[in-house]
Amino acid sequence: MNLRYKSTRNSERTVTASEAILKGLADDGGLFVPEYIPKLDVTMDELRSMTYQETAYAVMKQFLTDFTEEELKRCIENAYDSKFDTEVIAPLVKVGDTYHLELFHGATIAFKDMALSILPHLLTTAAKKNHVTNDIVILTATSGDTGKAALAGFADVPGTKIIVFYPKGGVSRVQELQMVTQRGDNTSVVAIHGNFDNAQSGVKAIFEDKELEKELSESGYQFSSANSINIGRLVPQVVYYVYAYAKLLENEEIASGEEINVTVPTGNFGNILAAYYAKQMGVPIAKLICASNENKVLFDFFQTGVYDRNREFILTSSPSMDILISSNLERLIYTVAGGDSEKNKDLMEQLKEKGAYEITPEMREKLSDFVGGFATEEETKEAIQTTYEKTGYVMDTHTAVAAYVCAQYRRESGDPRKCLVASTASPYKFIHSVMTAIDSRYADTDEFELVDELSRISGMEIPKAIEEIRNADIRHTRECDAAQMKDTVKEILGV
Ligand SMILES: *Cc1c(COP(=O)(O)O)cnc(C)c1O
Repeated sequence: MNLRYKSTRNSERTVTASEAILKGLADDGGLFVPEYIPKLDVTMDELRSMTYQETAYAVMKQFLTDFTEEELKRCIENAYDSKFDTEVIAPLVKVGDTYHLELFHGATIAFKDMALSILPHLLTTAAKKNHVTNDIVILTATSGDTGKAALAGFADVPGTKIIVFYPKGGVSRVQELQMVTQRGDNTSVVAIHGNFDNAQSGVKAIFEDKELEKELSESGYQFSSANSINIGRLVPQVVYYVYAYAKLLENEEIASGEEINVTVPTGNFGNILAAYYAKQMGVPIAKLICASNENKVLFDFFQTGVYDRNREFILTSSPSMDILISSNLERLIYTVAGGDSEKNKDLMEQLKEKGAYEITPEMREKLSDFVGGFATEEETKEAIQTTYEKTGYVMDTHTAVAAYVCAQYRRESGDPRKCLVASTASPYKFIHSVMTAIDSRYADTDEFELVDELSRISGMEIPKAIEEIRNADIRHTRECDAAQMKDTVKEILGV
């Protein structure tokens, strides 16, 4: 049977999975959601001996039902290959009493690679299936990691162009260098004068601009998205939660059927939503612990039922989570509104107009699987330092936010369940913050000197992604105001 997708803002029209991937965002500005979350049709016993690629097929075929077996397997094989520095793709590492699911072994050393190494293949396959002849222009707003992962995935892919917007001054030095040194004739990188929310809102406005869509189409282009608003990003992220649970079983860390908790360092709410989908597919996950940094709009939301972005935007040492408008939360709001697209639309309009909305007590009740927590800058540093001192394991800043919140939840709730932490970036990517957390003496040391030092103290090999940017040429220097994003896109495309 075919699983169809509908918009969170209009339940009437449905599209196939490949159409949803091609479009990215629905015409009404809503996000595509599957009509229901499919169940796994393999047992945990079968899953425990599967490779990452086999697990990916078992999970993704349930969601992307209009892809043939051959198409989907080809996408998976092309995505999860030697671009990753380990055959297991997503290793599970026991650190103290928690399990870190390391999602940073791909080409750009952050978890965005897990989905963005397959999205270009899903998208070009979807284009073929739907007889699309236009070139597809991927527009992406990034808080740092999506940009590079999308650039790496789409560089020189025939029939595609990619334009990435990132907040000038809002990303780490390594993140910026990774983006501005990107090769590929079809790639463009633009620094905007504004923060991530400005970039994301700008991109959404361009998607919703019907006139521009028409102009573009006349020139042989159409837009799609590599942000986690694209369902083609979300579905591949469900895979690693299924895989992690199966590996915990395989390694006899848990008993059959034993429930675990999952803590996810959260920004745009894509990663944790994927864990929620994994739970609904049948993975025994109890609590979904949503960890924020000082931009703790989600923590406040889970506390009070009020989502309020009217607050100061704080630049933290975990910049990929510096977000006040978590796009993917809309998918959860829609779900807890019982699939009432009018209700969801009303709340999203309030968010757009007033920057805030409040959900009903009935909706709040349906959020009981979620727990919110946050870590301050001090607490994040402390987590990095004490974990290093106790275990020798070095975490990046984002993962540290999650590790802190996970430990705090355990302490305060007394919940004895084992906990999985989504480890979202290599410490090399945020090296300055990581090393100064370990020892404040490093504060004035050059980032690339710190690379060798981190390798020495952690025993972790220096990733290729870091070696590559040490001497690479800067290829992208374009900047613009947030208000000029549309003009910049037209200029780049020559329309
Ligand atoms: C993107 C990102 C996050 C946040 O993930 P969301 O899916 O946006 O919630 C956390 N950590 C790192 C390193 C990231 O790149």
